[in-house]
Amino acid sequence: MAAYYIGVDLGGTNLKVSIFNETLLKVAETRASTERFLGSQHVLQRTASIVKQLIKDQQIATKHICCMGVGVPGLLDLEKGISIFSPNFPKWKDVNVVQYMEETLHIPTFIDNDVRMNLYGEWHYGAGKNKNNIALLTLGTGLGSGIVMDGHVLYGATASAGEIGHMNMYREGRPCRCGSSGCLGRYVSALGMLHTVKEKLADQRNSILLEWVQNDVEKITAKMVSEAFDLGDLIAIETLQETGELLGYGLVNAINLYNPEIIIIGGGMAAAGERLLSSTRKIVKAHALKISQAACSITLAELGDSAGMRGAAFYAKQRLQQIQTSKKL
Ligand SMILES: [Zn+2]
Repeated sequence: MAAYYIGVDLGGTNLKVSIFNETLLKVAETRASTERFLGSQHVLQRTASIVKQLIKDQQIATKHICCMGVGVPGLLDLEKGISIFSPNFPKWKDVNVVQYMEETLHIPTFIDNDVRMNLYGEWHYGAGKNKNNIALLTLGTGLGSGIVMDGHVLYGATASAGEIGHMNMYREGRPCRCGSSGCLGRYVSALGMLHTVKEKLADQRNSILLEWVQNDVEKITAKMVSEAFDLGDLIAIETLQETGELLGYGLVNAINLYNPEIIIIGGGMAAAGERLLSSTRKIVKAHALKISQAACSITLAELGDSAGMRGAAFYAKQRLQQIQTSKKL
């Protein structure tokens, strides 16, 4: 009997759904806006109806869908399948994602954090293939991270292990949503980097960036900073260098703590590539434990923004198999 798996990436902006075959090769994919401002019930309904439509379009019978994985940002109760809180969604508290999907779609459903779903994807199908010790960082609007150690994804007591983005870099730094301040993610992320650019521009300095946005600094994007860097713009060069160095210090701590063999950098801001990472590498070389850094490479993610869907399908398949095996015992 044909067997299919579904991977869902429930992002704050985009909702992405893919169907995979038995070997987790993609059969079909669809993307839509999440419409998060309409509330949790709407987002759940929308997700379920998009999944249903994609299955229908492919003319697959529901009984052939083995299970579905959903990557959700924020705090989760993995066993109960509840999204406790998500900074990306307004009016979002104790949302029972699994119960809703299973009742509506009649497909066994498993949830995990969106970054860990990315990690499962890159680990098994992308830059982390055949590795047992991985640190993945996604540099998007914020900084997400996940760790594989000795062949296991780290979860910890509350499934929040490995939050490199909340590593304290300054005792009194920029305030963070977590309640602390000076966290790495407030500097090394698209928003963090743009914050740094604005601080520099506030000192009345000149930059081609100001021309491009007609002095409206809110319109500057991470991509523009890379483009200005390529044109030799000093503000852009300093910003990428400082951001890369801070990332380097964060990675020094991560390398000394977790001893990864590979650090995978993903997320939209990874497009800055070596403009960012060359200064990161210098700091790592100068400061990380010699034996650990010699065994560790820093590389870019390979699957782009489809890693989350593939990882979610992989994760769900694995969870279902674990349940089936334990029932047989
Ligand atoms: Zn924080």
